Amino acid sequence: MTDIARLKSRLPGLRIEDHPTLVRQKSRDFFWYSPVLKRQLHQVTADCVVFARSVEDVVAALAACFEAGVPVTPRGAGTGNYRQAMPLSGGAILDLSGMDGILSISPGRVVAEPGAVIAAIDREARAHSGQEMRLHPSTAKTATVGGFVAGGSGGVGSISWGGLRDFGNIIRLKIATMEASPRLLDLRGSDLHKVSHAYGTNGIIVECEMPLGPAYEWIDVIWGFDSLAAAAAFARDLGEADGILKKELAVVAAPAAHDYFPRHRRWLRRESHIVCAMIARHAYDAAKALAEQGPRAALLFSTAAMSVAERKGLPDIYELCWNHTTLRALKVDPSITYLQTLYRFPDHLSLVAKIHAHFGDEVAAHLEFVRFDGKVTCFGLPLVRFTTEERLDEIIRIHEDMGAVVFNPHRYTLEEGGMKRTDAVQLAFKGEADPRGLLNPGKMIAWDDPSYDYASGGTYLFKGLGQAAG
Ligand code: FAD
Repeated sequence: MTDIARLKSRLPGLRIEDHPTLVRQKSRDFFWYSPVLKRQLHQVTADCVVFARSVEDVVAALAACFEAGVPVTPRGAGTGNYRQAMPLSGGAILDLSGMDGILSISPGRVVAEPGAVIAAIDREARAHSGQEMRLHPSTAKTATVGGFVAGGSGGVGSISWGGLRDFGNIIRLKIATMEASPRLLDLRGSDLHKVSHAYGTNGIIVECEMPLGPAYEWIDVIWGFDSLAAAAAFARDLGEADGILKKELAVVAAPAAHDYFPRHRRWLRRESHIVCAMIARHAYDAAKALAEQGPRAALLFSTAAMSVAERKGLPDIYELCWNHTTLRALKVDPSITYLQTLYRFPDHLSLVAKIHAHFGDEVAAHLEFVRFDGKVTCFGLPLVRFTTEERLDEIIRIHEDMGAVVFNPHRYTLEEGGMKRTDAVQLAFKGEADPRGLLNPGKMIAWDDPSYDYASGGTYLFKGLGQAAG
């Protein structure tokens, strides 16, 4: 157990909360999306929450926790869906949401504190100079930029810009190390890979410098198609049409969209497979022309001519996409869960067709088109009708056997869910930045158990978890 009195005496200027309800609330993220992790992790809780409001607070908190041997799990808004922010070994949650300053905006870049909410950055950048973040998760209205860099991968904007893994989509990060005297390091270029998508295991991000792109008026559009194949082919064509500026491009199979998107239902048809897109206003006519060339695309919904009053109460279209599709399905049918897959170029559409013909209604297609290694291809976030954990594992195996890459969202480690394999650079850097292994313990298998057999298919159960779950 954490000696909270000792921490409080070492950190007199910081707010430290140990009320069980608040600590439990701050120990949760969207882990419950997975029925497997809901069962495994529901008791996980930290011992206290330390609220940081400045770089100095972060440095002081890390030094005090290092000295006392207290594990530290950083937290932005807690919207991660790979349970990245859950404190498997107890200890302290380091809440960074109070470090929400936007420090500077200039042509092509923004510098912000890690707790800055992405939508707030977009609002300021738009007002300042007609710019916006190139990429954001569909949780942009709540998620922090630090949490996105440390726990996310891409999302809205990835159809044009690729993902956070791609060079150029993060400019610079400043991190604090977990040592007796924490150092502040500025990372750029290849060094960014040491801490991006590392779930906070390799240092606490205290400043993010991110690229901005031009902000456009985005039109939300939904087209309907008679078949999944036609919808996917149109999404591919629109994705590859580089002259048509777009920010989001997704396919949702029938009847999921109709059944799970109640606020858009009056525009949808139950039998239609839909393509959802965000198109820049000046490219809207071109996108419609492209749709008219294809097989029987029906324009079901568009905000192009809608008034503010007509749009009231309607979520933005990106809030029907990425993991919001799953969230909306879960709200209607709690037996739904999901997978995250990648269908590699150039066989992506044939693989999608093969997989969905195999599973039928048990696995409903949801595709997110992106640029991946420069090619337009698609991730899958299929909606899976959950029966048993054994069947879920079998469904994953079948996907892999058929040729899809699966980022298993029913695991909580970097290797099994996020990164899929040990990243040697991240592992080596951890030795420097967190020599005692106190940052978010249990999330990096390679650190805890270098001999772990990744091919075993079993869930990696961090040994501290038993203690934390008590
Ligand atoms: P948190 O959940 O608080 O943290 C995420 C990870 O980063 C944790 O491991 C945490 O320990 C670590 N961390 C947080 N702050 C720091 C810091 N300052 N320094 C070091 N480590 C830190 N993700 C996508 O990439 N794209 C999507 O489109 C997307 N859509 C989503 C939709 C829904 C409905 C949900 C529930 C999740 C979605 N996610 C998506 C996942 C998540 O919302 C995003 O990745 C989001 O950016 C995380 O930000 P956060 O502030 O909530 O981070």
